[in-house]
Amino acid sequence: MMRRKNDNKRYFTRMGTRKKVHAFVRVKPTDDFAHEMIKYGDDNKSIDIHIKKDLQKGVVNNKQTDWSFKLDGVLHNASQDLVYETVAKDVVAQALDGYNGTIMCYGQTGAGKTYTMTGTTENYKHRGILPRALQQVFRMIEERPTHAITVRVSYLEIYNESLFDLLSTLPCVGPSVTPMTIVENPQGVFIKGLSVHLTSQEEDAFSLLFEGETNRIIASHTMNKNSSRSHCIFTIYVEAHSRTLSDEKYITSKINLVDLAGSERLKKSGSEGRVLKEATYINKSLSFLEQAIIALGDQKRDHIPFRQCKLTHALKDSLGGNCNMVLLTNIYGEASQLEETLSSLRFASRMKLVTTEPAINEKYDAERMVKNLEKELALLKQELAIHDSLANRTLVNYDPMDEIQIAEINSQVRRYLEGTLDEIDIINLRQIQEVFNQFRVVLSQQEQEVELTLRRKYTLIDKNDFAAISAVQKAGLMDVDGHLVGEPDGQGFGLGVTPFSAKPGKKAKSKKMFKEQLRPSTPPPKPVAFEDFKNERGSEINRIFKENKSILNERRKRASETTQRINAIKREMDVTKEALNFQKSLREKQGEYENKGLMIIDEEEFLLILKLKDLKKQYRTEYQDLRDLKAEIQYCQHLVDQCRHRLLMEFDIWYNESFFIPEDIQVSLKPGSSIRPGMVPISRIMSLGEDDQDKFSQLQQTELPEGPDSFSFYNAKVKTEQKRKREREREAERQRHRQREKPAPCREPDVGLDPRLPGSHPRLKAHNYLKTMMGFQQAHRK
Ligand code: ADP
Ligand code: MG
Repeated sequence: MMRRKNDNKRYFTRMGTRKKVHAFVRVKPTDDFAHEMIKYGDDNKSIDIHIKKDLQKGVVNNKQTDWSFKLDGVLHNASQDLVYETVAKDVVAQALDGYNGTIMCYGQTGAGKTYTMTGTTENYKHRGILPRALQQVFRMIEERPTHAITVRVSYLEIYNESLFDLLSTLPCVGPSVTPMTIVENPQGVFIKGLSVHLTSQEEDAFSLLFEGETNRIIASHTMNKNSSRSHCIFTIYVEAHSRTLSDEKYITSKINLVDLAGSERLKKSGSEGRVLKEATYINKSLSFLEQAIIALGDQKRDHIPFRQCKLTHALKDSLGGNCNMVLLTNIYGEASQLEETLSSLRFASRMKLVTTEPAINEKYDAERMVKNLEKELALLKQELAIHDSLANRTLVNYDPMDEIQIAEINSQVRRYLEGTLDEIDIINLRQIQEVFNQFRVVLSQQEQEVELTLRRKYTLIDKNDFAAISAVQKAGLMDVDGHLVGEPDGQGFGLGVTPFSAKPGKKAKSKKMFKEQLRPSTPPPKPVAFEDFKNERGSEINRIFKENKSILNERRKRASETTQRINAIKREMDVTKEALNFQKSLREKQGEYENKGLMIIDEEEFLLILKLKDLKKQYRTEYQDLRDLKAEIQYCQHLVDQCRHRLLMEFDIWYNESFFIPEDIQVSLKPGSSIRPGMVPISRIMSLGEDDQDKFSQLQQTELPEGPDSFSFYNAKVKTEQKRKREREREAERQRHRQREKPAPCREPDVGLDPRLPGSHPRLKAHNYLKTMMGFQQAHRK
């Protein structure tokens, strides 16, 4: 009757506050109690052990004669009832609130661990923690009708590092084929193969307990297994679901009741065979238990050695950590057992130092969550339908989109990007999200297309591909710094080499291109190109521009500081003046002293006068500084403006040259020229014939310096020459024609006007550009 599968659950634990492992001591009743040696503190929370000097030698091999152990309680002559109240009651109660709990009995064989844990099965009054815990759990369930709480139990024995199911004899448990194993999963640790039994009432639970106890005793006979040499773990599993269906949270917990094997150390001599083997396993597992608990208490430790033995591994999620943990140490009160008693008390006081952080194991019932969400969704859909009808929005579909709808959105996005669709109508949130989604899809496709086109045309080299780079270097296409040969400042892009930082297939594609090597079919946006320009051709102007700007800023800062100082001085002057006036009025009231026509003033007034004088001097100096600074600022501002202007202008030219004007035209315009092709509007310069450009260059050198007035002259001259040239070409063509087909059939018109020539010749514009540039350069030279 398992409620649901584990993977249906979500887990988390709510952290609590740190608390110490509780350590109690129970002393086995005896007529031979060592009153001389064992003393309890008044609060019953400490034990002092004292050994008389003469006895010491025989009892403990130690020079020490006194020990004191601080614990959480000493149970002497305590009833089973009191032991349960003191040790277990709270742990069990908290388990029903979702806290895991572990109670362990530790101590030498015969000291009363099993008596404490299980008690006598014949006498109800002497029943131990186990049956009492089961009783408490069922009683608490009755008190909580608001919750559906299930209880299950298992009983595991670990003997010589082998696992035994003490409830395997029950008819409901099939014969186990494979040995049990300890399995860890995100939800915790469980023993695969260990039978877990649902119990709906106290009586069933007791039956299970007795079954286990019987099996424990039988096994000790049939398997020659000494029952005090094994660890037994009785586990009560609690799972509490609220009966309110809207509550998706539920809690789980485990109570582990552990009856540990006897902790006595066997003398090395004496023991052999089975006994030695048992002792070795027990010693190991108990010391691993101690190590694990100590590691758990050490917040700096991130590795806890749980897997060293079966005991700690099986208890991995029930030791320390987020558990309530109680250790009950059973000791003898007799002098003859003092060595073991001391060892047990040491273990107890070490455990007491360990802190744990009990936390609730809260989980989410996924099934319930889904059901609740479905309900809410249905409700919201109804709500939405009402809103839509009120807003006159009919036929709005809120279901997830199918492939066809998505394809339609993709097409809308493409048309929108191309400009054939003006806007995309908003329908609902899902559609908006899909639009964004499709933008991403289209963008990434376009990126791939661009890269593909580039790859088809150019050889792209990854800057991280050192072999390829060195090959290019060898071929003389790139210098050692990774710059392309002929590139002025290494900022270029050339040969499609991606920058080191750029990931292949990403951003780099929109990056700058070095025009002599590779020119993009569409020029980069101006802001992007401007950044490149500042690093490349414009770097020097940009540097000066920035330098001037920083000087300007620095001067401005100084001016503001000076102004502040001046204001401060002014304020102080005012205060001083006031004080002086006050002194003066005092003096006038008291009657003035005069000595040989000289006014006599007291020292205070005198000092004020001196101070005022000094302040005035400071004031003048600072004021002078401020004036100088202001002049400097004005000058710097002028420089900065000039630099900015120059930077922008140079950029425009560079931009045109780099992305619009074909290189051959640039070359033809260049020789010895002060004019740069980028200055000329692209549309104009592109319409110049080759020869015209030659002429134009010559003109620039010979004629143009005469000034702008000569322009119409040159314009006409070039026009005529062009016309003549065209005539010559036609004539030559006619000649060729005549030679091929004699006689010539018809006459072509003599003169043909070039339809390309506009009324205003492009060079007019060019000239104006030139003028502007010469003016600018002159201004700049100044
Ligand atoms: P352990 O499990 O530590 O080896 P047991 O619990 O088996 O020791 O105790 C050994 C014997 O002592 C048992 O007969 C048990 O009934 C008895 N005994 C132990 N503690 C007490 C006690 N507090 N009161 C009465 N009898 C006890
Ligand atoms: Mg025992």
